[in-house]
Amino acid sequence: MTVDGPGTDPASSGPQPYEYVIIGGGIHGTCLANYLLAESGHTHQDLCLVEPREQLLASFATKARQCGMRTLRSTFVHHIDTEPFSLESFAEGADREDELVSTEDYLSRPTLKLFLDHARYVINRRDIDDCHLQSRVTGVTRTGADDLLEVQTDAGTLEARHVVLAIGLGGPRTVPAWSTSLPEDAPLAHVWDDEFDPTTAAEFSGQTFVVGGGITAAQLACSLSEHTDVTLLSRHDLEFELTEADPYWINWRHIEQEIHTLPSGSKARLDRIRAVRNDAMIPPYVERRLNEACDCDGLDIRRGEITSAYATDDGLLVRFDDGTTATNAQVVLATGLDPVPEHPVVGSVAESLSLERGADGFPILDDRTLAWRGTDGTRSAVYVSGALAEPSVGPFARNIVGARRVAERLLASRQGPGSERAPSAARGRS
Ligand SMILES: Cc1cc2nc3c(=O)[nH]c(=O)nc-3n(C[C@H](O)[C@H](O)[C@H](O)COP(=O)(O)OP(=O)(O)OC[C@H]3O[C@@H](n4cnc5c(N)ncnc54)[C@H](O)[C@@H]3O)c2cc1C
Repeated sequence: MTVDGPGTDPASSGPQPYEYVIIGGGIHGTCLANYLLAESGHTHQDLCLVEPREQLLASFATKARQCGMRTLRSTFVHHIDTEPFSLESFAEGADREDELVSTEDYLSRPTLKLFLDHARYVINRRDIDDCHLQSRVTGVTRTGADDLLEVQTDAGTLEARHVVLAIGLGGPRTVPAWSTSLPEDAPLAHVWDDEFDPTTAAEFSGQTFVVGGGITAAQLACSLSEHTDVTLLSRHDLEFELTEADPYWINWRHIEQEIHTLPSGSKARLDRIRAVRNDAMIPPYVERRLNEACDCDGLDIRRGEITSAYATDDGLLVRFDDGTTATNAQVVLATGLDPVPEHPVVGSVAESLSLERGADGFPILDDRTLAWRGTDGTRSAVYVSGALAEPSVGPFARNIVGARRVAERLLASRQGPGSERAPSAARGRS
């Protein structure tokens, strides 16, 4: 079955291929669609944004709400629009400057609501929803015509000249071994389970253990502790840092000098990036929230790990690594996601198109264009955005600003000397 998308050309015998099929309608996919519509001359007929959720950005919005996030960690210049001050102007226009929260020694950060309302404004202003196909991509193959790709989705097949993988932060949820044998109805959840409802979790009458030591665990523990007794259980001492990496890593020139000079696909690149990322570190404004919750007696912070857990009629019986136990407990895991190269689509696309993978299974990209390299050394028409592009885009690849860096690279590569094809308007399609 072929999907007759907006690319259908009545004058031709079949549907026109899309110029870009973007896999994933999260922050990265939506930001790229916005850039392509705003700055490259592409029309809605050229783009298809394949996203299984009903709404674009739902993955981010759901995660943010599930962990009780109140404000963005990044500043007001990081958003999905093309103009740096778009969010600030939006706040001023709506008389909502008070939702730009001041941050010591740094630019203000938007509240979650302001950020999402601005993103919705951008989506509506450019009718990006018109490009959204609600479906899941299962694979990408070559078609008979050698410069086209065929994208298999649950809703049928799409043809595309370029495909962008924007599938998000990771594969399946990371869960500790002790949790895997618990029955389905045990009071155990992962904060990123689609079914996880913080309101229901907050109604638990016993002790709640939030497992994790990063910003997600900290925010979740604070927000649950407003309603129930919570212990934040981290296997390391909590560490505090405002940003995910030093802001100079946002600068593309810096990435070129510090990352692109290391061999493509090498472990050295990943080691360099991991060394400068402040992973599992909590920003000071969340540290203050933690301290307030501890002062109100709703929250304990404990260093340690659960070694085993058993389901009883009164919640979980959990045993810790220091030999102590707790009864009548529920556990919420904030232990992250498995690395994104383990996402099933990555392996399937690499195999069917013979694309090269490097250290830890990351795609090897052309650093200038972010095109995924073939095993024969050529540039493919598959591009990568988000956490999966980290070895070329650097420590902020997964962040909102990473989406803008990728969009800029893609647009530059279309306009530069290597540009293979003009957008549809230039091809005479209305
Ligand atoms: C709670 C939270 C707060 C964050 N706060 C900030 C912040 O303040 N500032 C910042 O810069 N960064 C922040 N980040 C990091 C990052 O910006 C976000 O994770 C952002 O959502 C990443 O965008 P993405 O598009 O890569 O992933 P997502 O937004 O998760 O989108 C990926 C999309 O791909 C879709 N998808 C996956 N597989 C398929 C498939 N096979 N077919 C079709 N679609 C598929 C998913 O359904 C999903 O919608 C935060 C992350 C989290 C989790």
